[in-house]
Amino acid sequence: MAWKEIEEGAIIKHDIKKSPKTGDWRYMKPVVDKKTCIGCGQCFSYCPEACIDFDGERKADIDYDFCKGCGVCATVCPQHAIKMGKNI
Ligand code: SF4
Ligand code: SF4
Repeated sequence: MAWKEIEEGAIIKHDIKKSPKTGDWRYMKPVVDKKTCIGCGQCFSYCPEACIDFDGERKADIDYDFCKGCGVCATVCPQHAIKMGKNI
């Protein structure tokens, strides 16, 4: 089915287990400073891989299986709580 044939409002079922592990592409790694994070959700909203969630204390939590290291989260964070470093 081509995307143009999908009805407006249709829900596309997504099986995360079948998704490619985009984390394999990563050469830069975002790290969240949990003390600085205020849980505003900006990174959650902008992450193109939808791989940011919140931990029990409502701090940003990154799933590195799917994080491709693009750095968008670090750019949009108003607290500068996410730093990009080498993926080692
Ligand atoms: S670097 Fe940030 S925005 Fe990019 S994929 Fe990883 S968590 Fe998402
Ligand atoms: S954008 Fe920054 S302050 Fe907001 S939830 Fe993400 S890491 Fe925390």
